[in-house]
Amino acid sequence: MARIYEKAFLGDKIVPVSEANLSVASSAILYGLSVYTVFPIIPLVDGAAAFRLKDHFERLLNSAKIIGIDTFEKDWNFESFVEAVKELAKANEINDKVFVRATVHVSELVPGTKSRGLQTTFSMFIYEAKPIVPQDGARLKTSVWRRVPDYSIPSRAKVNGAYVNSVLGKQDAIDSGYDDCLFLDSEGHVCELSAANIFIVRNGVLMTPGDSSDILEGINRKTVLEIAKELDIPVAERAIDLTELYIADEVFACGTSAFVAPVSEIDKRAIKVNGPITDKIRGKYTSIFEGKDPKYNEKYLTKLF
Ligand code: PMP
Repeated sequence: MARIYEKAFLGDKIVPVSEANLSVASSAILYGLSVYTVFPIIPLVDGAAAFRLKDHFERLLNSAKIIGIDTFEKDWNFESFVEAVKELAKANEINDKVFVRATVHVSELVPGTKSRGLQTTFSMFIYEAKPIVPQDGARLKTSVWRRVPDYSIPSRAKVNGAYVNSVLGKQDAIDSGYDDCLFLDSEGHVCELSAANIFIVRNGVLMTPGDSSDILEGINRKTVLEIAKELDIPVAERAIDLTELYIADEVFACGTSAFVAPVSEIDKRAIKVNGPITDKIRGKYTSIFEGKDPKYNEKYLTKLF
């Protein structure tokens, strides 16, 4: 299990993580009615920075909007969010790469199955940046479970309760001796992993399921697409069949907690790792991530201290 840092942010202040609690009668606990995001903090030579904070904040707002949680945006804006992240990073004296989990909880007590006009509580805590899949060749199993479709629980919204779907897929994959699951959507097209997006390469073209394939609109997916554009790698966002993965030249997963992870096997079909396009993208991604690419520092990084 990942190590959790001592200080958390709850409501409007820093508290010991042991005191960052919610009531058992809150909708967050009763229905999983919370929305969240996870972003990294990267140590720099002179301080630390958060990666793509604006994108994370916007996705958090959008997740709340989709679900109908309408009180958070009245109390918070990007500036107050950045201030809170800075306070938390300083309180924990961060000097390692870490992940921050930021959550908007519906903390109202027993309001019933509703979302509007309810009290929300914002929380953040920091934990060790451990990858969720092996970085040298992840083994995937097509899930017996399908990704929740947009018409049931939208994957586009990062809502806590929907992660039961990811838990089912991931546990089934682990039980079967694999590292992670590959979700298909309700029509049988390739979707994503339990908590990462997927890319494949065929004949020099980088491909990933489009935004309307019941995926989470991953911020690292967006970064990979931007890197590909810069490196002049042809890209297609389109519906992908499972068998295209079986015969792909390269496959990789990407996400905050997956980084850029080559896939070495899907349903017992071997995929070559360290392919040229994966390597190029991964190399660039890693240098951006380590704050070593000045051009991207301004675009992607928010200095915290
Ligand atoms: N899909 C799912 C289901 C996820 O939980 C995540 C992790 N947030 C991702 C994709 C990747 O998103 P991101 O790049 O924003 O971390």
